[in-house]
Amino acid sequence: MKEKLYRFMQGRYGMDGLSVFLIGTAFVLAVFDTFTRTHILNLFSWALLIFAYTRIFSRNHSRCMGQNMWFYEHTKGIRAFFQKEKSRMKIRKTHHIYTCRNCGQKIRIPKGKGKIIVTCPKCRSEFTKRS
Ligand SMILES: [Zn+2]
Repeated sequence: MKEKLYRFMQGRYGMDGLSVFLIGTAFVLAVFDTFTRTHILNLFSWALLIFAYTRIFSRNHSRCMGQNMWFYEHTKGIRAFFQKEKSRMKIRKTHHIYTCRNCGQKIRIPKGKGKIIVTCPKCRSEFTKRS
């Protein structure tokens, strides 16, 4: 059985970022569809799944890679935004982020140090903050 699957997948394109996105979106649409009566979303969900699996089982690697590149190119901004938010959430546990009132520079201050004088690294203005 495992041998058969291996032979079947040989030379096929397989999973990539776009496929993961398509399957994930299809799942979300299918979940949302259960709250609607029209079942249009279900149709979209199936369309995405079929597209995803035709790509996974495709032997045309260059076309699939092209699609994946296109996907990454066109979602660069969104992915960067989520990456930034993720790192900001991580930092928020240990640090405060203050904005300098003078120049708008963002300043990261470690938490739990009591009352401290913050000096802006950009414009050198000082202000007191409780960290
Ligand atoms: Zn400043």
